[in-house]
Amino acid sequence: MRAHPAGPRHGDLVADALPAAPPADLNSLSSHVWPAGMVRTPSGQLSLHGQSVTELVRTFGTPLFLLDEDDFRRRSRAYADSFCGTDVYYASKAFTSVELLRWVAEEGLGLDVATGGELAVAERAQFPMDRVLFHGNNKSVGELSRAVGLGVGRVVIDSTEEIRRLARCAEVAGVRQRVLVRVTVGVEAHTHEFIATAHEDQKFGFSLASGAAARAIELVLLQPSLELVGVHSHIGSQIFDTSGFEVAAHRAVELLAGVRSRHGIELPELNLGGGLGIAYVDSDDPASTEEVASSLRAIVERECRAYELAVPRLAVEPGRALVGPSMVTAYEVGTVKQVALDAGASRTYISVDGGMSDNPRTALYDADYTVVVADRHSDAAPMLARVVGKHCESGDIVVRDAWLPDDVRADDLLAVAATGAYCRSMSSTYNLLGRPPVVAVSADGPPRVLLRRETIDDLLALDPFA
Ligand SMILES: *Cc1c(COP(=O)(O)O)cnc(C)c1O
Repeated sequence: MRAHPAGPRHGDLVADALPAAPPADLNSLSSHVWPAGMVRTPSGQLSLHGQSVTELVRTFGTPLFLLDEDDFRRRSRAYADSFCGTDVYYASKAFTSVELLRWVAEEGLGLDVATGGELAVAERAQFPMDRVLFHGNNKSVGELSRAVGLGVGRVVIDSTEEIRRLARCAEVAGVRQRVLVRVTVGVEAHTHEFIATAHEDQKFGFSLASGAAARAIELVLLQPSLELVGVHSHIGSQIFDTSGFEVAAHRAVELLAGVRSRHGIELPELNLGGGLGIAYVDSDDPASTEEVASSLRAIVERECRAYELAVPRLAVEPGRALVGPSMVTAYEVGTVKQVALDAGASRTYISVDGGMSDNPRTALYDADYTVVVADRHSDAAPMLARVVGKHCESGDIVVRDAWLPDDVRADDLLAVAATGAYCRSMSSTYNLLGRPPVVAVSADGPPRVLLRRETIDDLLALDPFA
């Protein structure tokens, strides 16, 4: 194992660097952050639709992803209802499995896939292919021809090479493929900040400012096997308000007006991408689905009025907002270590039996999470601790600054909230730790395994010399 010295943050636990004050009650669950079906019972146990986390862990082991099926379905329905008249595509890269995609289909949503692998899951789920939209900045010819062959509803074109590749695939298949052109509108948004210039320096889409988007549209219109239905813009992720979308919609509608004056056609669809944020910690305050939906609609209608354009059919692609809040991760504590810092301060490191392999977001994005003791009530005083994993990296952090009771000890169970998006889907087998299972729990019926635990035999099966 490598032993790194602590990183530059070593010693930052001084009074002025302390995060927010401890929550009033370390035992309570903010409904803002936890799935709707999760409560702490009078005995102190976390329970999901009446199934105690302790029991679930006894059956399925740790680390364990627990998915509140009813919460996920309710969010999906809320999107479908609030965005009525708008196409809602679930961005399956946030988390995908065959059974979950069946729920997505049942709740009436479409699906966004970005690789042949994600498309294969959709195929196994018998997802209606006309409601599938295929993204990606470097789709292979194999992926494109598979998608066209399966009859996916829309392909979002991301490069000049792809225009010819896709046109050829469609021609060979004898179909006219519906496409959108992905444009980079020069807006980048994260959480509550957005930057409305410069951010053209990225790999996705065609730049609007340089004229590349207009040229791509022209080239697509020349392909008899492609039917251009609209433009697409995705401005970022974990966005809390609609000001970034406002600028994006303004520029996209301006482009649609430009297409009308140049080519005499009004494109019928405008896809504003995903990116709607969720609460990871209590202080996060994302706009509600209803607010976002009505504000996006109002923005586009206003812009279209200004250009005297018919309002196109809108589409959005939420990933995180649908699945993120519906899942939690249960871990078992293995060690608790007190480390002396400068100036007489100390930090408590609580090691759990997973880490950056099942949740790389803290290491990658410095993401913040809420964590609680899952299997008992505690009246101990709050302690600011760092929850870390078991990997050979000092950056293997699950929750950088976590308020936990100061009696946390080995064998306690911890639960981390809002791990549904980009945790299992971005998980790795680093240090040959198999990836955790995902178990769905609903108010009706027993828990069901959506993805089983990856075993060491699964991993060794890849090694022909094993
Ligand atoms: C990742 C992505 C999404 C989903 O983003 P969320 O932040 O999970 O809502 C939607 N559209 C595109 C093109 C994406 O790349």
